[in-house]
Formats: sequence, C-alpha cells, structure tokens
Amino acid sequence: MKLFTGSYIGGRRRPSGDGSTVRVDDPATGETIAEIASATADDCLEAVEAAAGALPGWRATPPRARAEVLRGAFELMVRERDQIAELIVRENGKVWADALSEADYAAEFFRWFSEEAVRVGGDFRTAPNGDKRILVTHQAMGVSVLITPWNFPAAMATRKIGPALAAGCTVVLKPAAETPLTALYLADLLERAGVPPGVVNVVVPDPPAAAVRAMLRHPAVRKLSFTGSTEVGRVLLREAADQVLSCSMELGGNAPFIVFEDADVEAAVAGAMVAKMRNGGAACTAANRFYVAEAVHEEFVSAFAAAMDALTLGPGTDPGNTLGSLVSVAERDKVAARVVRAVEQGATVRVGGTVPPGPGAFYPATVLSGVRHGDDVAASEIFGPVAPVIAFGPQDDPVAWANDTELGLISYVYTGDLARGIAVAERLESGMVALNRGVASDPAAPFGGAKQSGLGREGAAEGIREFLEEKYIALDLA
Ligand code: NAD
Repeated sequence: MKLFTGSYIGGRRRPSGDGSTVRVDDPATGETIAEIASATADDCLEAVEAAAGALPGWRATPPRARAEVLRGAFELMVRERDQIAELIVRENGKVWADALSEADYAAEFFRWFSEEAVRVGGDFRTAPNGDKRILVTHQAMGVSVLITPWNFPAAMATRKIGPALAAGCTVVLKPAAETPLTALYLADLLERAGVPPGVVNVVVPDPPAAAVRAMLRHPAVRKLSFTGSTEVGRVLLREAADQVLSCSMELGGNAPFIVFEDADVEAAVAGAMVAKMRNGGAACTAANRFYVAEAVHEEFVSAFAAAMDALTLGPGTDPGNTLGSLVSVAERDKVAARVVRAVEQGATVRVGGTVPPGPGAFYPATVLSGVRHGDDVAASEIFGPVAPVIAFGPQDDPVAWANDTELGLISYVYTGDLARGIAVAERLESGMVALNRGVASDPAAPFGGAKQSGLGREGAAEGIREFLEEKYIALDLA
C-alpha cells in the first residue's frame, strides 16, 4: 500500500511545522496504519499562499488544457482503482465492493468535469432601450477551501476538486483526520496527471477548528465548499460570513423511505438494502426511517430482516464480507446507544441489535419494527446499519411525517403508480427524490439538499457553477 504522510503544499510533501502528527487507524482491527503530519495553522496559511500564487497561471490555462489534465486524472484513477480502494478500506473500514464502487464513482467526477471545463459559457444581451449591450462572463472564483468528511474519502474530494479545477480555481483540501490517506494519494495522482504545483494543496490540521478559521480569514480565499454535519456547517457559515465567502454546503440527512401499499415489495426490499446499507449505513443519503403501509408492512419487514441477516460482517480486506466496520469505536457506540434507546421506547429488534465480541468497530445489520414516528431513533441521522420501520395506516400521512424534520437531503418512494409517485415527490421537502430506486447519486445529476441539508449543488452542470462568478461588462454603443 503506497502511503503519503506529509502535508502537500506547493507541490512538496513536508512534515508539520511543529513536528506534530495524527495517527490513522484501521477501524476493523484497531491497528495504526500510518502517522501523518498534523498541519499547523501556519502550514495551512502557507497552503493558501501556494494556492493564491498558482491561481493566475491556472486561471489563464486554456479550458481545453485544464480538461486534459482532469481527463488524465480520471484515467489514472481507473488504472489505480485497486490501490485507491485498498486505502479506503483500510482507513475507513467499509467493505471491498463499496470501496471499489467509491473509487469508480470518484473517478467519474474527474471525467464529468473534464467535459464541463470546456462548456463554460456566457451571455450577450441588448439593453431594453437598445443603446447598450450587456456582456456576461463566468470567471473562476479564486482560491477555494474544500473540507470533506470521512465516509467517502475519495468521492467527496473529487466531487469538489473536479469542478474547482475545471472552473480555473486553485484549492486547499482539508480531508477528515480519520481518513486523510486517500486524499494525500489523490494529490500525488493529480500531480502525475499534470496539475501544476500549488493548484491543489492538502493539509490535515488536527484538531481542525483554529486552522480552518485562519484559512477562512485569509483575504485570498473566496470560496468555501464543505461536506459534513449540519452542526459543523452552521459554525463554518458563521465564520465564512466575516469575509462574505461564497459557500457550498453538503450537510446531514434524515432520509425517509416510503413504501405505499401498491409498491412492488420485493423491489422495495432490494432498494431498501441499497438505500440503507450502501457504505454500511454511513452515508448522508442513507435511508434513516422506513414508513411502510400497514397492508404490506409484515411482508416488507420479514423480507428486509432476512436480507439484512444474510450480510456477512467482517473486515473489508476480505472481499467475501458484505458489511464492514464503522469508522471508529466511538461511532459504533453511538449507533449501539440509539438501538438501546429505541428498545426502551418500545421497538422490537427483528435482526441484529447486539455488538459482536472481538476487536474492531463492528455493528450488525439491524432492523427495528414497532417504531413510532417521533421516536428518538428515527428523529436524527443514525449513520450506521440500523433500519427503524414505522407502519402507517389509511388515516396517516407519511409525506407529512417525512417532511417533519429540519433536514431535507433525499427521500425514497416506492409505489406502483407513477402519477402518485410524482405527486408525492413534488410534496417532499428534499433536494433529491429517488422514485422506485435505492440510489440517486450520479455525477451527471445535481446532488444537494433542501432546508438545513445544505446550500448549492455538486455534480452536473450546476456543480461547476458553484466555483464560477458572473461578471457583467457594460457596453455603450452610443
Ligand atoms: P463533521 O462535520 O464532523 O466533519 C466534516 C469535516 O469537517 C471533517 O473534515 C472535519 O475534520 C471538519 N471539521 C469538524 N469540525 C470542524 C470545525 N469546528 N472547524 C472546521 N472543520 C471542522 O462530519 P463527519 O462526521 O466527518 O461526516 C459525517 C457527516 O457528514 C454526516 O452528518 C453526513 O450526513 C455528512 N455528509 C454529507 C454529505 C452530503 O453530500 N450532503 C456527504 C457525506 C457526508
């Protein structure tokens, strides 16, 4: 396994300014796999200076040339998918199949945005009185601070680096301290693809708060793109306000999964397995509460519990395992406590529900029935392999229940009636709706949340717009 352990600043790898380090552990075994540089606030400011120094050159690089570099990075990622997947498995704990699919998904953002780099347009308008012309161009915003979580160490990074570089921005990436190795590897890969020094910098300050605050106060920084919890997102929005930074925020979710009585139950169970268990439940898009019509409730719960029970729990390094570990024992304990609380509130454990003996941050696939709307387990993001199922009758409105949260990232709906599905999708207060599907993420689609799940979109044509600023040039013909 190829490991990079230094901060990556201005194209050079270096230890921390004060010699401090962060330990990276394999959550499936508890073993330490690397010690990497813990960047100081000064190191982070140097990274911002490097990005500011590289900005004029990168912004002036022809779009086609920037596109070719991103295309090269895509091709390297495809070629090196096994190495990338191995890093993801070791530092994050997810299973091999999930890591490989993340590596492929992550690579697609470089391909997609290599194609978008050459499609940035503008506008030419005639003023209403006819004597003026209005020219609108889109220009790179400038130095961008990118902050990513631990649950998708490759994809969350490429989903930001891809559009930023395509737009002509330069970046400082701050990955989560739990999973920095994939990001540091990507920095090397981008260098080999031809990204000039300073265009991409990677720093891992731990703890992050003071160093990130220092970066956001640097006058060269114009953009913050953050993926993580709503709680931290709120803090960063306040800090970004001091410099009036443009902010893109991909925050937490609390996704409802509604199964109507006219749904294909077998398809709904297959969709539930993906919506709940992709990434072992540690996804912002993970189905968090299942509202199932009474008429199909028992059929759904039995089949779902059987499918969950068939998963094999163990380290992701063994490709036979289908459910890996959580990212840390602390995260595992939070998930276990949610299940204990659900049982106290009257839930029945249909499968799972007990921490297995032995090392590693493992928790089994768990289905809970007898949960009521409003019970604690379904009121906020679980971020683990636990599925609370809530039955609804003809007198209940599952869409109102689905909307009864301050979050609104994604919703899942299963129904045999397309018109009903669209009507329900239009009522759901979320940025995305998966209709008779267990997954919606797609580099070609605008990913993002409504309400307190975020601001802005990633992927698609919308993704590059987050890193572009409109400039209006006034022309007088008279
Ligand atoms: P987190 O908010 O704890 O951390 C996210 C990032 O912010 C990490 O890099 C972390 O080091 C950094 N950070 C934490 N506190 C900070 C502070 N005070 N100042 C500056 N930086 C700080 O989230 P997490 O636990 O790593 O990830 C899980 C969360 O991310 C979940 O809520 C999940 O829903 C969300 N998420 C959202 C999306 C999306 O696209 N909407 C995708 C993946 C994950």
